[in-house]
Amino acid sequence: MALGHIMRTIMNRYNKNDPEWNNWQWQIAHSIKTSDDLSQHIPLTDQRKDDINKCLANFRMAITPYYASLINIGDPKDPIMMQAVPSIDETYFNENDLLDPLGEEKESPVPHIVHRYPDRVLFLVTLRCSMYCRHCTRKRVVGEVDKEIDEKGITEAIKYISDHDQIRDVLISGGDPLVMTTAKLEGIIGKLRTIKHVDIIRIGTRVPVVLPMRITDELIDMLKKYHPIWINTHFNHPNEITDEAKNACIKIVNAGIPLGNQSVLLKGINDQKDVMKELLLRLVSMRVRPYYLYQCDLSKGISHFRTTVDTGIDIIHALTGHISGYAIPKYVIDAPTGGGKIPIGYNYLVSKDDQEVVMENYLGKIYRYPQPKHNR
Ligand SMILES: *Cc1c(COP(=O)(O)O)cnc(C)c1O
Ligand code: SF4
Repeated sequence: MALGHIMRTIMNRYNKNDPEWNNWQWQIAHSIKTSDDLSQHIPLTDQRKDDINKCLANFRMAITPYYASLINIGDPKDPIMMQAVPSIDETYFNENDLLDPLGEEKESPVPHIVHRYPDRVLFLVTLRCSMYCRHCTRKRVVGEVDKEIDEKGITEAIKYISDHDQIRDVLISGGDPLVMTTAKLEGIIGKLRTIKHVDIIRIGTRVPVVLPMRITDELIDMLKKYHPIWINTHFNHPNEITDEAKNACIKIVNAGIPLGNQSVLLKGINDQKDVMKELLLRLVSMRVRPYYLYQCDLSKGISHFRTTVDTGIDIIHALTGHISGYAIPKYVIDAPTGGGKIPIGYNYLVSKDDQEVVMENYLGKIYRYPQPKHNR
């Protein structure tokens, strides 16, 4: 432990004592993008460097100094490292891999909009992120640096939303919308707010996890003007819950923004019951509501992260009833080729007929509920 700490201080090119550490733009400007950069933080063999370079041809790397500082470099299976640093497994394609696993392209009526569900749309405003998750669903497009929405794209997307009055919920995502400047984001949110039928505006962002200093007072003051705003973030492992991350989450919820979390079930990272339990309890403790736990989808080059579906069902079953219901996310499979998110879970229903419902409780005991009888 002590050694680990010393190693960390020696190996990390940047550290928290840097006067610019809490400046999010500095974090982005100094993020680790090449195997050479990375070798100044983590000792890398030439083979490992080669492997990383091969992966970078498919999907770029960027690791904020903050997120890199969470890596325990003595652990070859460190959960932060596995999410941030490419592994050669990414170059293996599985026969079931799909380029567009969720069929988002065919449901995109205008650029930047995915309209799958009746009353809500996904509005993809940028392809940039501050940290590129190795398990990213939208790998096929995310990471193309220059692809931030332009004025024409904003105008078209806003027009589509204005023209469809069934849309009451707009989910701003990407990429990570919070890597955009506050002014540009406000331009988009402000326009959405002028549309009468748009009720809630949601933002999907990994910034509280990988770049918590982005949650500035300026950003929060802007967002507060456009309520109801909801945010969903993406914590996958308890090691990501630091004082900085906690502070960012608390700032968000204190602004009256309900904060949810969407995790991806990742092999070797959070596919153990105890790891998942600690993550969920710590999220609730900082007032973050676990919303979805996703089965890892069929994106190309991420098959090494996939667990069996039974693993997910078993973890949720083992926790349900044992910890607060607030801590239990809905386990879903985002249907391949695009059918939406489908909840998958343990079947507590033993049988059901006109007379009674037989069911199992969280401890496996059997209970009966008589069906209502209406004689008249
Ligand atoms: C996930 C998703 C949504 C939001 O779904 P909720 O279940 O309401 O969170 C909307 N549109 C698309 C295309 C999605 O993938
Ligand atoms: S933050 Fe989201 S969009 Fe960006 S790389 Fe991670 S999973 Fe993909």
